[in-house]
Amino acid sequence: MDGNPRLNITGSETVIGQGTGADGAVFRTLLDRMSDGVFIARDYRFIFANAALPRMLGYEHDEFVGQGFEAVVAPDFLELWVQRFRQRIGEGEEPPGRYELRFRMRGGQRELPIELNASRVVFDGQRCVLGIVRDMSGRKLAEHALRESEQRFRGTFDQAAVGIALMDLEGRFLRVNPKLSDILGFRASELRTLTMEAITHPEDLSLDAHPLRCVRNGEQTTYSIEKRLLHKSGAATWARLTVSLQVDEMGAPSHFIAVIEDIHDRRLAQIALADSELRHRLLMQNLHAAVLVCAPDARILYGNPEACRILRMDSALLAGRTIAQLGCQFVDRSGEALAPERDLVRRVLASGKEMNDVVVGVRHDDAETLWALVHAYPEFDTRHRLRQIVVMFVDITDRSRLEAERDADRQLKAAALNAITAHVAVLDKRGVVVETNASWRAFAERGGYTGNMTFIGVNYLDALARCDRDEAPHAAAACEGILSVMLGRSALFQMEYACHAPHERQWFSLKVTPMDPARERVLVSHENITRIKLAEEAVRILANTDALTGLANRRHFFELADEEFARARRYETPLAVLMADLDHFKRLNDEYGHAGGDAVLRSFAIVLSSLLRDSDRAGRIGGEEFAVLLPHTTREGALAFARRLLECVAENPPELGGAPTRYTLSMGLAELSADCVEFSSLLRNADEALYRAKKAGRNRIETGDGAPDGAGQAVDTD
Ligand code: GH3
Ligand code: MG
Ligand code: MG
Repeated sequence: MDGNPRLNITGSETVIGQGTGADGAVFRTLLDRMSDGVFIARDYRFIFANAALPRMLGYEHDEFVGQGFEAVVAPDFLELWVQRFRQRIGEGEEPPGRYELRFRMRGGQRELPIELNASRVVFDGQRCVLGIVRDMSGRKLAEHALRESEQRFRGTFDQAAVGIALMDLEGRFLRVNPKLSDILGFRASELRTLTMEAITHPEDLSLDAHPLRCVRNGEQTTYSIEKRLLHKSGAATWARLTVSLQVDEMGAPSHFIAVIEDIHDRRLAQIALADSELRHRLLMQNLHAAVLVCAPDARILYGNPEACRILRMDSALLAGRTIAQLGCQFVDRSGEALAPERDLVRRVLASGKEMNDVVVGVRHDDAETLWALVHAYPEFDTRHRLRQIVVMFVDITDRSRLEAERDADRQLKAAALNAITAHVAVLDKRGVVVETNASWRAFAERGGYTGNMTFIGVNYLDALARCDRDEAPHAAAACEGILSVMLGRSALFQMEYACHAPHERQWFSLKVTPMDPARERVLVSHENITRIKLAEEAVRILANTDALTGLANRRHFFELADEEFARARRYETPLAVLMADLDHFKRLNDEYGHAGGDAVLRSFAIVLSSLLRDSDRAGRIGGEEFAVLLPHTTREGALAFARRLLECVAENPPELGGAPTRYTLSMGLAELSADCVEFSSLLRNADEALYRAKKAGRNRIETGDGAPDGAGQAVDTD
């Protein structure tokens, strides 16, 4: 086509004519200035094109005009293109004019996306197609880039390991990513009904205020804080929030983007760590134990206040020194100085092992030794490399002193206990023996006891309960007595008991005394009182016996007589009493001297004693006066006894001055009668009978009833 097209619109058809002259040139210029391509097609080829279209497709203008459709339209669209072309040049409904397709670039290697605006025109009297072609490649690229960026953003948004939220300027959530839902436990739809304020912990609400204002003022573009957000469950969860303000094209604030990082675990760990550090520091400050931490080269890294006190050194001075450089001397338990190269840190270093409960004395020049109980151990890191050595020590000076005092006390007590001749045992409140003294142990050994000589751990109450009653009748009483003191029923308990061996008579005194007000401990002592008992017995015998004759003395005879009298009256048994008085004793004294008289008295007592039964009692109740009690004996029996006595006396004259010397005696006899209520009256009757016997000539027997002694006979002593 040589000329320029000219536009005529007639009726419903657009008619383009071959333009010539000024009109045509203007129109042509206009077409060539357009950035869009313009063509007219007829007979399946392009018969007109403006300047832009060939340029778009890489053709020279002249080269393009005349190209067939198959050269220009991308194969994928050729069929559609031809079909539409036919519809436009034919009769009937014109198809929609605007659609997208691709043209082939010159050479056919590349295709260009285009938007086509096609319409039916009449040109040179023939139906043609007018097309306006817009190069879409730029837009497509832009769209593609946008789509990619959108996808990238979506990917980032959806899969981000942090929560991301888009908020409006009031803090309302517009969009949230899944991670944020995760962190807060709310579904995205729920979050979109909430604001940042609503999910902020009430105590942390004010944290945002200032930075938010700065961002809104434009002083800064973003801010970052750590605060607690509220989980749907109501629990607070720590989050790091980075908020930035987005502006629109006009620079006006449009919305916020918040990146929310879940730092709950980290924050808790931080808090826990801070807590633990604080606790550790407080512990070290306030510990009653001293702590030294030493490096593997034995130098002190740290000493707590108690360590500084014991070592008398400031913590700053302590650091960097070795134990040997501390300026004090260390001694062992016996007071022997420890060699500096043998300090505990070095010993732990050498052995790699901990050392427990070592007692070390710390000696400063001017003061008494401080005693410390030391525990030192090495600490290794995860790779088993020695990290440090920890030395812990406790000041036990007071404790040592107390222990020494307690030891001395204990020794004193033991010595005191052992010095006691009584057998002493200390019982606890269950009756278990907790301590015994030397006498106790010696007694157990002497007694042939084969068990535990100390009895320690033996329940003494059980041991007593196991005693055979016949063998130890006192065991039950002792058991009861101990219990009564233990239970606080008695202030103390005491009893005496005999414990006779076949060849030895022994008595013991048991005493039970509480050792403390609570009666946690009671002291049981068994004292051997045999000597006292024997002495008492001797004294009693002495007090009751007439020294010359060995018979009961007057006082004791009356005691015995009272008992027998009462018994006889109670049981209504016969009882006779006999009074005897040696005849003319004064003469004997005169003739043989007082000693001779004594010999006669002793001789008479022997004769009398030889005739007595076990139940009979005889006593010397005056100088040469004797009385005899004859229980279960009637007047006749007593008379027979008296006669036998007279005979025996006659038959056994004592030797005085080298020759047997005869003597006689007179006797008065009385028998217990129903009207006799006192022994004295019975004795009086006998005395009166005696008096009558004397009067009647001596050497005879008279009875208390005053009747003549039928059986009585004077025995001539001369
Ligand atoms: P009669 O026959 O009347 O009883 O005369 P008698 O001499 O025995 O009695 P009398 O009462 O006159 O004297 C008793 C004497 O006994 C007086 C006293 O010196 C003596 N006599 C008393 N006790 C003892 C004694 O223990 N030893 C000695 N050898 N003589 C004693
Ligand atoms: Mg007399
Ligand atoms: Mg006389």
